[in-house]
Amino acid sequence: MLDWSSPRAKLLAWYDAHARDLPWRRTRDPYAIWVSEVMLQQTRVETVIPYYTRFLARFPSALALADAPLDDVLAHWSGLGYYRRARLLHEGARAVVRDHGGQLPREPAQRRALPGIGAYTAGAIGSIAFDLPEPIVDGNVARVLTRVLDIDSPLGDRATERALWSAAAALAEGERPGALNQALMELGARVCVPVNARCGGCPLADVCAANKLGRVDELPVAAAKKPPKPVQLVALVARSRDGKLWLARSEGSLFGGLWGCPLSQGAGRKAASLLGESSGLSGRLSRAMLGSVTHVLTHRALTVDVFGLQNAEGAEHENLKRLADSELSTLGIATLTRKILAAAARRVAT
Ligand code: SF4
Repeated sequence: MLDWSSPRAKLLAWYDAHARDLPWRRTRDPYAIWVSEVMLQQTRVETVIPYYTRFLARFPSALALADAPLDDVLAHWSGLGYYRRARLLHEGARAVVRDHGGQLPREPAQRRALPGIGAYTAGAIGSIAFDLPEPIVDGNVARVLTRVLDIDSPLGDRATERALWSAAAALAEGERPGALNQALMELGARVCVPVNARCGGCPLADVCAANKLGRVDELPVAAAKKPPKPVQLVALVARSRDGKLWLARSEGSLFGGLWGCPLSQGAGRKAASLLGESSGLSGRLSRAMLGSVTHVLTHRALTVDVFGLQNAEGAEHENLKRLADSELSTLGIATLTRKILAAAARRVAT
């Protein structure tokens, strides 16, 4: 077992000298740190910064977020992707207001019981906002620790996860656990990078097993990846006589809660006709597809047959509305919907 006292001190000294000045590092507000950590999951720092700033300006507290309609939250998330994160953050804020008087709880078990807060996010909030010795393991931390400890079982394996969390817990025990955790993430993001790691400038070079053994490029061993599952969908670009677009709020796990063109599983004109009926829309269905769109999500590869519905009529309700194209930016619109609209517009233009 590695004695972490010297690596800890070196990591902290390196972080104090090299940490980037990021907006969420200028606060100890648990809510703001929570928002930043959720946004940073699967998303690059540079992308997150403007979203974080706008989100905090519009929803400055858990109370403000809990009070806001979901559509407003999704609109502020629009373009950041992985919308489930926004819905869970909104749900989490409501639970914080309902059960904890609007303040994120200091007690780790209470934090982990909140919607959308797993071990990583709970640890990030606990260590950074409350300075509690709670570990975190994300992709960057996992890369650093597998290399330092020469862990060559695949990421995602139970044994690997156990070893990583136990090492991260040992590291977090000591002064400034929040800074220490951020130092580990920062090192993984900027020095111990996946390819061409900069071991020459690394504060852990003298204790790093992979560096000593010449195995840096072999680690970490990636988890076996499943190819995304193909899913066939049909979409309707339905426009009323005055050219407004009919939008439906989707259900299910793919885009749950987001507004977009009516969408369902299926292929071809028959499926498009059924989709119009089930969406409560009638009109003139295009004879042929306007286009086909492909879109790859983490676990799904979507192919979408796009049909048009002209002179579309229906009755607006909470999950169906009619908007001018210029009003689309007021809603959380998924990238897939933008692709569908672009495919239809290309067909109209030709
Ligand atoms: S010495 Fe190299 S491989 Fe080891 S932690 Fe530092 S950058 Fe990563």
